[in-house]
Amino acid sequence: MLKYVIHYFFLLLVISSISLRQSWAQTNNNSSLQAQVHSYLNSYNSEFQKLYTAASEGQWLLNTHIVEGDTMAAYQSALAEEALAKYTGSKSNIDSAKKYLALKNRLTPLQVRQLETILFSAGNNPEIAGDIVKKRIDASNSQTEKLYGFHYMFKGEPTTVNHLDDILLHSNDLTERSKAWLASKEVGASLKDGLENLQGLRNKSVLPLGYSDFFNYMASEYGITSAEMINLTHSFISDIWPMYRELHTWARYELAVKYNRPVPDYIPADWLPNRWGQDWSAMVNVEGLDIDSILKTHDAEWIVKQGEEYYKSIGFGPLPSSFWQKSSLYPLLPDEKYSKNNHASAWHMDLDTDVRSLMSVETNTEWWSTVLHELGHIYYYQSYSNPDVPLILRSGANRGYHEAFGTLMGLASLQKPFLEGLGMVKPGVKTNDTLKLLSEALDYIVHIPWGSGVMTEFEYDLYAKNLPKDQYNKTWWDLVKKYQGIVPPEPRGEEFCDAATKTHINDDPAGYYDYSIANVLLFQFHTFIADSILHQDPHSTNYWGSKGVGDFLKGVMEPGSSVDWREMLMGSIHSEMSAKPMVNYFASLMPYLKKVNSGRTYTLPERPVF
Ligand SMILES: [Zn+2]
Repeated sequence: MLKYVIHYFFLLLVISSISLRQSWAQTNNNSSLQAQVHSYLNSYNSEFQKLYTAASEGQWLLNTHIVEGDTMAAYQSALAEEALAKYTGSKSNIDSAKKYLALKNRLTPLQVRQLETILFSAGNNPEIAGDIVKKRIDASNSQTEKLYGFHYMFKGEPTTVNHLDDILLHSNDLTERSKAWLASKEVGASLKDGLENLQGLRNKSVLPLGYSDFFNYMASEYGITSAEMINLTHSFISDIWPMYRELHTWARYELAVKYNRPVPDYIPADWLPNRWGQDWSAMVNVEGLDIDSILKTHDAEWIVKQGEEYYKSIGFGPLPSSFWQKSSLYPLLPDEKYSKNNHASAWHMDLDTDVRSLMSVETNTEWWSTVLHELGHIYYYQSYSNPDVPLILRSGANRGYHEAFGTLMGLASLQKPFLEGLGMVKPGVKTNDTLKLLSEALDYIVHIPWGSGVMTEFEYDLYAKNLPKDQYNKTWWDLVKKYQGIVPPEPRGEEFCDAATKTHINDDPAGYYDYSIANVLLFQFHTFIADSILHQDPHSTNYWGSKGVGDFLKGVMEPGSSVDWREMLMGSIHSEMSAKPMVNYFASLMPYLKKVNSGRTYTLPERPVF
């Protein structure tokens, strides 16, 4: 079947190239070329949609209907994904896209964008890379199996990673914490050879289409070079650094008191409430906005319906009936014969009208903001599923946009005036706003040196500089110390591979800066909405019922990725991408932290060293 398809495309190309040359010579007119490209793109889009839908259905079943011992669903899903990969990476599609792109001056901008997208999709699995792509897919699957199938041990007994996380979140016993942290890193050693193998295969997969390495390939989707991506992430770190330096100093002293130890120069990794020190928000306990008690008086469906009401109040349409029929929104009953993935997600099954969400909604605050977050993705899907946006351009303006909008809605849904308006907190209820802001900073600000610094530069070294295996762990900890100011509780030699304990390093590689970009964009959009549309304090907004907010969001969402994201950002909020709105959002914390830290020794440099 595949052979036939390739052969057919080859013939088509030969025929079309002959007729093309003749027609240009005769009429010197672009319209016949554009018509040919139009017809090629039509057939690509419709074949892509068919294969993409099949792959989504396979994945949906795997995630919503997990039956122990059933290997058939996984097999079918893998087949569908392979078919999609084969099509997007086929030589004929690469040849067509390249050939037409060589004539891009004669094509419409929308055609050029689609051809570039086709070439980018092909870049990771080009047929011309031969068996390298298949080896990479197999190696990646076996790495994932090793990571999730690892048997964690704690104090000589089998344990789960949730249990280890729980100890790091709640225990005050440093001996226990240290053991839990070390236990959580054991998996890394078993992944080291696999990571080295993947480093080579990922780099080799993208070579045929002219990318220098895998990091370069991933950055290219943003339309920028690796060096530009590193400059961008450095600019985020520089912007937030003064605030991070205060938080780092505050945390060292705070934790030393908590554990009754001398104040360390750098924070021991096992002192923090997260395995990688990427989120410190659990260090503070914010009293005040208690919406759990109100939510408990309703059922889970009420939360999802309220979410829909909210989007309708700002001018979006109702969710389609298929959303309610096909989604998996609530926890399964205990006597169900199958299980499901409990992680919340939003799905665009056919890149058109079939939108679904996988959740396990319960009546608590976390699900309240999660529902608004996931519906943010759903309304984004719906917004760009319009006739002006071809199927293959139905995605976020860049990889960071989707998460930015989801998180924006989650953040807005927990602000006081929003909740007051819904009758979910009493008007004028007293809350500790400084502590709330501190807890947000320990999440959003603390994530930047980790995401933009450690993760991004480690993967840059790994792929762009071909980091040798015997330097993985040293490089990792040098970066952790430099950017996060964190050190391991005891020496970590090359017998370990602590980087590989992070899922993304193994199965979602070289794009971790997406999370930094999403967070940066979220504060840019939120600040713009608060300042220019609602004229409200960004810490205290109420989006509900504002058609202005809805119109603004639709304007940004509707084009999908059919326009350049930088131009769209400039057109919508009149700014380039910048972490400054995030810094401004937290600015009122600076005097507080400086006061608390006065007389304390700072151990991070005043400016980040790159
Ligand atoms: Zn999300």
